[in-house]
Amino acid sequence: MSKGGKRNPMPQQDAAARKKNFSEVALGYTEAQAIDEAERCLSCKKKPCVAGCPVNIDIPAFVELIKAKDYMGAAAELKKTNSLPAICGRVCPQEEQCEKLCVLGIKGEPVAVGRLERFAADYEAAHSSGSEAPKPENPELANYHVAVVGSGPAGLTVAGDLAKKGYSVTIFEALHKTGGVLRYGIPEFRLPRDILDREVSYVESLGVKIITNMIVGRTFRVEDLLNNGFDAVFVGTGAGAPKLMGIPGENLSGVYSGNEWLTRINLMRAHHADYATPIKVPKKACIVGAGNTAMDCARTAMRIGSQEVTIVYRRSRTEMPARAEEIENAENEGIKLMLLTNPKQFIGNEKGAVKAIECLRMELGEPDSSGRRRPVTIEGSEFIIEADTAIVALGQNPNPLIRTTTEGLATESWGGIIISPETGMTSIPGVFAGGDAVTGEATVISAMGAGKVAAEGIDGFIRGKHGLPS
Ligand code: FAD
Ligand code: SF4
Repeated sequence: MSKGGKRNPMPQQDAAARKKNFSEVALGYTEAQAIDEAERCLSCKKKPCVAGCPVNIDIPAFVELIKAKDYMGAAAELKKTNSLPAICGRVCPQEEQCEKLCVLGIKGEPVAVGRLERFAADYEAAHSSGSEAPKPENPELANYHVAVVGSGPAGLTVAGDLAKKGYSVTIFEALHKTGGVLRYGIPEFRLPRDILDREVSYVESLGVKIITNMIVGRTFRVEDLLNNGFDAVFVGTGAGAPKLMGIPGENLSGVYSGNEWLTRINLMRAHHADYATPIKVPKKACIVGAGNTAMDCARTAMRIGSQEVTIVYRRSRTEMPARAEEIENAENEGIKLMLLTNPKQFIGNEKGAVKAIECLRMELGEPDSSGRRRPVTIEGSEFIIEADTAIVALGQNPNPLIRTTTEGLATESWGGIIISPETGMTSIPGVFAGGDAVTGEATVISAMGAGKVAAEGIDGFIRGKHGLPS
């Protein structure tokens, strides 16, 4: 039972066992824990927590239904505004969103909204007879076609929302599998693939057609879609181009970007010896960066059998951008943190493979534009860390392919597509965009929120274009 303003802890797989497997770390609340946690909620009239939710879930309403043991009702309430609650309940940074605004957080711990969301979504999945797709609201809209480029959370959301309205929707996905970062980035031990598969099947059951292995910008361009029967196009291509360090030795074999490392393991299974281009299991892996991607890279390196895994970060623990829970999980799994340290160069052996990293010690100076204290190099502090694998996980920018092949598409200097925040429309009439392709690397729920805005924008655009009643 929760005591003294504290929330119910999340049951977890034991750290010693989980660091050797890819099974989910968090095991989910039992019914008794879920009810106990739901009973902590004060059902505040002003609902401050709702303002922190990017898709405006009526949090006290679904929590109230859990209190009343109406778990299916709770899941239905969640699905009114969030079509992927089992995913969001697992990966949303709730501590920065709804839970940050929960009144119980003023004197104690906030209600564990994310854990309750996961409980209700998992209960529904375990007790429903399959995904009953709702009938399209207006079957006549099937005459109008929308192309969605990319099958990440933004693309899946826009496709699902438009299919529910009645539109004919086709998703074009560059990879051989759907889901975007949900599949190739976030590891299975945080997001089991059966949960993702279930959500994608639901979108397909709404009538959405998915075509994989189709790189828009190569096989055909965005304007080809508009000229070949599509009334509107949504670009949800994410942010898949890694930011690199630009230091000597970055091209050595054994130096990966975070995205490449995770894609090769999560999507391609390159850690299995029978894979055509397997990766070498590191003896000493070193991850540069301290965001969620860095934590995922480190924990994945540990699970494929690395003997030693170290995270190198140029600031201190306070500035680490990863979720506190993920940092704690990583440390419990035996991952070391080397703080106030910055690589100067990667050092190779005679075969061109990385064998060590020359690093510099740092100290913290005045805050920079991000508000975090600026790391300052301590001159002459060079030292060497041994590493046969180095993973640079410093974030991603949008891939340039769409912007360089779509004439007239206005973008920011760093590559983000510029849109109208009200409709999601870009500088090209009929072309919409959302998610990381617009904001740079953000969150699953913000990508979904952008998908919702664009679905409404596309609906309005097509109705206007064809003189349909709104
Ligand atoms: P993506 O998920 O990137 O999907 C884009 C899709 O478009 C991909 O499938 C890609 O293959 C496809 N595509 C790209 N170019 C083309 C093209 N030319 N033609 C056709 N298809 C194309 N967020 C959280 O909220 N919680 C987390 O715990 C979390 N952990 C993360 C861990 C990692 C390792 C990473 C990298 C990110 C994490 N994020 C997390 C961020 C979150 O995953 C992203 O913000 C979110 O997935 C963005 O969704 P999206 O639909 O915009 O793009
Ligand atoms: Fe419940 Fe906290 Fe929201 Fe109040 S702020 S309704 S206590 S979750």
